[in-house]
Amino acid sequence: MAEPNFALYRQLPAIDKLLQLDEVQILVEQSGIHWVTECLREMQAQARACISQKGQLPEWHENWLKELSVRHSALGESALKNVFNLTGTVLHTNLGRAVMSKSAIDAVSQVMSSPVTLEYSLDGAMRGHRDRAIADLLCKLTGAEDACIVNNNAAAVLLLLATVAQGQQVIVSRGELVEIGGAFRVPDVMAQAGCQLIEVGTTNRTHLRDYENAINEHTALLMKVHTSNYSIEGFTAEVEGAELAELGKKHQLPTAIDLGSGSMIDMTAYGLPAEPMPHTYLSQGIDLVSISGDKLLGGPQAGIILGKKKWIDAIQKHPLKRALRVDKMTLAALEATLKLYLTPEKLITDLPTLRWLTRSSETIKNSADSILVTLQAFYGDKFIVEVEPCLSQIGSGSLPIDRLPSFAITFAPLDGKGSSVESLAAKWRQLPHPVIGRLKDGKLWLDLRCLDDEHALLQVLLS
Ligand SMILES: *Cc1c(COP(=O)(O)O)cnc(C)c1O
Repeated sequence: MAEPNFALYRQLPAIDKLLQLDEVQILVEQSGIHWVTECLREMQAQARACISQKGQLPEWHENWLKELSVRHSALGESALKNVFNLTGTVLHTNLGRAVMSKSAIDAVSQVMSSPVTLEYSLDGAMRGHRDRAIADLLCKLTGAEDACIVNNNAAAVLLLLATVAQGQQVIVSRGELVEIGGAFRVPDVMAQAGCQLIEVGTTNRTHLRDYENAINEHTALLMKVHTSNYSIEGFTAEVEGAELAELGKKHQLPTAIDLGSGSMIDMTAYGLPAEPMPHTYLSQGIDLVSISGDKLLGGPQAGIILGKKKWIDAIQKHPLKRALRVDKMTLAALEATLKLYLTPEKLITDLPTLRWLTRSSETIKNSADSILVTLQAFYGDKFIVEVEPCLSQIGSGSLPIDRLPSFAITFAPLDGKGSSVESLAAKWRQLPHPVIGRLKDGKLWLDLRCLDDEHALLQVLLS
């Protein structure tokens, strides 16, 4: 029996004919004959599949050259697209957490483009490992005796536990067995580090005597974990850092705190909710504290362990350190970020994370008001466009219950116009510079807290 779509198949252009066209030759010069031929073969295969499954040619059949050039442009695009983060979550893990300061960006580009003294001392004196210079800076900022830098805070906790307590017991309060988004769960990390977790106390109340009663000859570490993404309220009790440090001294056991985000500075001085600071615990006598580099610190993804020299030395020498160490780009970005903390009065302008967190709702409202009319004129036939108050989040598990007053431009569907906020959100996600908002109460919310340039936003939303 004759193939019913024979006439359609005959309309498909021959690849060798296409390859001879000048327009195609330009692409061959740019990206090579291999890529262009493969792309044309793929288009052929897709067109054939379309004919056999739907009995028709693909939409782009009218213009193969245009389709080829669209696919060619996509080749040059990065998988990591720049987006507008208008979700209202400042440290958005899925959007890469902290945005770097100008000085961190410059520092990274410097070390990328040239050999550097990563583990090389120009005066011939051996100073040990690659963390040395930045560890000194961390000590200056936190009062720690020494520091160790690894890939992220999860790695920091793993390395700390493996070094201090492998094959032994670690005592932690039941109320602090945290799970951070993704796969970080305190009991699982303990198991991976080869430690036995000893849970003490109850979910809502843990006392010093609970820790003390659990101490035996197998105990290697007393640990606290900052409950960064939840809070236990009501009839509660937790053991303070100072008490735990005291207990550790009494029994000659080391103490550690995973602070999660942590902050180098007092957040309340900037009108923000209090966040624990490493130097508070170190000065209380806690031996080791770990924090993230890309949460409130506002730097690159990294994990920082601060504490007593004796323990940091052991941690630096553990074989896992080699697997978890950071590269020169991370060290450069971290150094530049930390240097900003040496002049705290400039932090609020130079560190994007802190600049966005401290923007007043009034400033954000002014920003929203300045583009409202233009957006109404463009989207007003299908949507009710308004400026409305909202609450931003810090994100990344920092300060979970606290919200920051902010303003958003909201888009609500005009009844009967067949418009949906879901499809508007989807359309904006497909833009060359995608705009990411938040769907809530049947509206699409663009929280302008993290928007630096209203005109850049208008440019993409009005196209
Ligand atoms: C965020 C967090 C972690 C994990 O830190 P990463 O840098 O994301 O690996 C671990 N512990 C606590 C308490 C945290 O808040």
